[in-house]
Amino acid sequence: MTAVLEIPIEKTPLERYVPPAKPSLVGLTRAALAEALGAIGVPSSQHKMRVQQIWHWLYVRGATDFGQMTSVSKQLRTLLDAHYTLTRPEVVAEQVSVDGTRKWLLRLPGEVAGERPHEVECVYIPESDRGTLCLSSQVGCTLNCSFCHTGTQRLVRNLTAGEIVGQIMVARDRLGDFLGAERAQGLGLPTGGDRFVSNIVMMGMGEPLYNFEAVRDALLVASDGDGLAISKRRITLSTSGIVPMMERAGTELGVMLAVSLHAVRDELRNELVPINRKYPIADLLAACRNYPGLSNTRRITFEYVMLKGVNDSLADAKALIRLLAGIPAKINLIPFNPWPGSTYECSDWEQIERFSEIIFDAGYASPVRTPRGRDILAACGQLKSATEKLSARERLALRAMAMTD
Ligand code: SAH
Ligand code: SF4
Repeated sequence: MTAVLEIPIEKTPLERYVPPAKPSLVGLTRAALAEALGAIGVPSSQHKMRVQQIWHWLYVRGATDFGQMTSVSKQLRTLLDAHYTLTRPEVVAEQVSVDGTRKWLLRLPGEVAGERPHEVECVYIPESDRGTLCLSSQVGCTLNCSFCHTGTQRLVRNLTAGEIVGQIMVARDRLGDFLGAERAQGLGLPTGGDRFVSNIVMMGMGEPLYNFEAVRDALLVASDGDGLAISKRRITLSTSGIVPMMERAGTELGVMLAVSLHAVRDELRNELVPINRKYPIADLLAACRNYPGLSNTRRITFEYVMLKGVNDSLADAKALIRLLAGIPAKINLIPFNPWPGSTYECSDWEQIERFSEIIFDAGYASPVRTPRGRDILAACGQLKSATEKLSARERLALRAMAMTD
């Protein structure tokens, strides 16, 4: 048996989720919201209209209290309040960096007594004309990618759809990004566009396709045109390559797909992304070729983390081009962001440039060539000398920025 085979592919979820006594309506699909109304005696003839009203107050106006829903009868507001809340995940810490990047540490309800609280992070990365929110789908991750910090945590649990949508609500609450709210002020916030949160990437903690139904429901709520209204073209789901779920992601969700490729040979990918032993590169690329809705205007983004001396040779770059031939693709080179205890180093700036040149010459847009990309590379180089100081916020921000070309 080789050393590589000793890396476990997956961990098993260990802990339970205990829902709160009075559930929050945040993140329910329209159908589930109608059911929740039915459960408290609202006649079905009223469901459509009531759902529409609540939807508007919740997702367009950002209501936090049923009392604010003035177009809903007082009687129904009281009834709703007796059974439900509009609670979002609790914000336990907020950090704002000089460049405007914001991180919220969220504490999730429903812990078993005595257990450590469940916490996830959500990061907002503003640019001049847009703002990208990086969402988590799980507390921890069952997979063990060797270069990923999240992979070193055992999975605690899947997030519910409400907790995923709740991350968007928290960001919009904090940024004053709801209709009629006072917009946040501060360095780095977008000056163009009519929304602070215009894009979403499922690139925080967790493997979204291992929590498919909650992620699907949450993203359908997020993209509903009468509510949060974030277009599916501005939502990117990143997967490590859970092949059997990719078709469903395309048909049931239809958001943009990003695939964490990171290596061009199975031998190396088995080590970096151990789920590759279950779903090897050939199967993954076949699933990409068959991804519903794939076209030149809806390309798959292939993520490729730049690891010094591991996957960053020019031969690897050429092999990458050959591998992706015929797939409408974008390639995002992500500078490796070190974390305490990580054994990899970020590729040298010059090597990333050479690698990216080969990709560019083959006709692919090469995001590291953009000014923002240069910033990222600069940051990566600078951070190499202070790896211990790299915060989770910075790691997430660097990763997510690489996604928004
Ligand atoms: N689990 C999903 C989504 C979350 S990770 C996935 O693996 O795709 C989002 C992206 O960040 C993935 O491409 C992942 O491989 C990459 N990533 C993880 N750790 C990283 C690190 N330390 N430096 C750079 N990219 C990293
Ligand atoms: Fe999980 Fe993605 Fe990290 Fe792999 S890279 S351990 S799939 S979060």
